[in-house]
Amino acid sequence: MARRKKVYEGKGKVLYEGPEPGTFVQYFKDDATAFNAEKHDVIEGKGVLNNRLSEFFMSGLNAIGVPTHFIKRINMREQLIRQVEIIPLEVVVRNVAAGSFSKRLGIDEGEPLPRPIVEFYYKDDALGDPLVTEEHILAFGWAGQQDLDDMVALALRVNDFLSGALLGVGIRLIDFKIEIGRIWEGDYMRLVVADEISPDSCRLWDIKTGKRLDKDVFRRDLGDLADAYTEVARRLGVLPQTSAPLGKPTLIN
Ligand code: UDP
Repeated sequence: MARRKKVYEGKGKVLYEGPEPGTFVQYFKDDATAFNAEKHDVIEGKGVLNNRLSEFFMSGLNAIGVPTHFIKRINMREQLIRQVEIIPLEVVVRNVAAGSFSKRLGIDEGEPLPRPIVEFYYKDDALGDPLVTEEHILAFGWAGQQDLDDMVALALRVNDFLSGALLGVGIRLIDFKIEIGRIWEGDYMRLVVADEISPDSCRLWDIKTGKRLDKDVFRRDLGDLADAYTEVARRLGVLPQTSAPLGKPTLIN
C-alpha cells in the first residue's frame, strides 16, 4: 500500500493528505510541549484523549451551526478534516484572569473578568507568538476588518458553547485558544474553527475545588496530565464511565 503523504508536522499533531481533494487527516501525537517547546515530554494516551475531546467539541459546534473544519473521527488517533487556509493568528478568549494575562496586567489568577476578552497573538514560534492588536493585523494584511469582526463573533460563540457544555459537568472555562481558517467555495470565502479544541488549548478548573484539569498540570508540574484529561473526557461522557485510569489501552475506538 502506498504511504500517504505527510503535509505538515507540528508539536502535537501531524497532517496527512486526505482521501478526497480538500481534505486532510489530522493525527494526534502523545507529545506535550510548553514554553515554546522548551519543555517536552511524551504522555501516553494524550493524543487519543485529545482526538476524542476535539471531536466532541467540534461536532457540538457543527451541530449548533458554528462551522468547523471537523468532518469525522477515523480511529483512535485520527480525524478527517477539511483543508483550510490557516489565518496566522491565535485567537484567545478569556473569562477569568490566568496565565500570561495575569502576569501582564497584574491581575490575580482566578479573578473573573467583567466580560469575555478576545485577544490575538501572531503565530510565530521564533518570536514566541506575540500579542498583537487589530491595527497590526490590518496593517500587515494578516486579516481584513470583516475577517476580524467575524473572528471575534466566531470566538464568542465558541466561548458560549464551551462554557455551557463544561459548566454542565462542573468545569469552569477560564480561557482558551482557537485557530481559524478560510474555506473557499467558488468566489465565496467563509471562516471556520480549525486545529483542535482540547485541554491542551483551554484552561479548565473544577468548579468546586479549583483543581486544574488542563495543560497547566504539565506546564506547572501539578500531577499526571493523562489523569486530568481522562477526568474531563469521562465527565463529558466521551469515555465509558468504567474504563481504567488514563484511558490507555481500554479506550474504545
Ligand atoms: N494557549 C494555547 N497555545 C499557545 C498559547 C496559549 O493553546 O501557544 C492557550 C492556553 O492553554 C490558555 C490560553 O490559550 O488556555 C491563554 O494562554 P496564555 O496567553 O495565558 O498563555 P500561557 O500562560 O499559557 O503562556
